[in-house]
Amino acid sequence: MTDIHSTDAVVLKSVDYSDTSLIVRLFTRDYGKMTVISKGARRSKRGLGGMLRPPNQLSITYRHRDNRDIQTLTACEYAARHPGLLTDMARSTAAMMAIEMLDKSVHEYDPQPLLYRLIAAFIAELGEADSDPTSLIHFYQLHLAVQLGFAPHLDRCVHCGKPLQTAVVESVAGHLSCPRCRPSGGQRLSRESLVYLRGLRSTHITDLVSLTVDKKASDAAGQFLMGHLFAHVEGLDKLKSLNFWQQVRP
Ligand SMILES: [Zn+2]
Repeated sequence: MTDIHSTDAVVLKSVDYSDTSLIVRLFTRDYGKMTVISKGARRSKRGLGGMLRPPNQLSITYRHRDNRDIQTLTACEYAARHPGLLTDMARSTAAMMAIEMLDKSVHEYDPQPLLYRLIAAFIAELGEADSDPTSLIHFYQLHLAVQLGFAPHLDRCVHCGKPLQTAVVESVAGHLSCPRCRPSGGQRLSRESLVYLRGLRSTHITDLVSLTVDKKASDAAGQFLMGHLFAHVEGLDKLKSLNFWQQVRP
């Protein structure tokens, strides 16, 4: 059965196919992750070849067939444009890292509209010149974990249940314990790091500049978030953009 579907999508990856076409992996708002072919895209006078590259946000129309792995793209245009992303190395690398994480974290045809909202808001905010790419990445990582169903427990010790003032990171699950329950071993999170992480949880993405944190506390929080995601999503530690981000981040 053939249907024509329209939705918004973020481009996750695109690969040249034959002399003229592109195979494009998309994270769509309404149908989840999927793969389409855009025939003739690379010869397109409308600039389709440039449009169908990560991390662009598009409004697309495609022809869906139930028995096909690759659907056929029939039309697309920009849903939003963020020129600020293209000219800044740290911002474009942060965007690629978020895109790669999303690609590794979701399955095909598993719609997750809240995750779509997260990546769209993240890219839009990253394109704003006065936003902070580092706190945005931390916000994205924390809320990716929340949406995927493994939100970290930032408030109470995983063992004794007492409120955490400072914390020790449990190596396997990404949980936190109090220093009394884990007197040795594990990464330590200061009070500042914990306050920052809780702030990321409760602050709107457009208000992140209101979170003040020193670099040491921010770095420790970032290391915790990354470890938490690594523990839950297979293959995330092999991200191409991760090393690059460590070099270009502000
Ligand atoms: Zn405890």
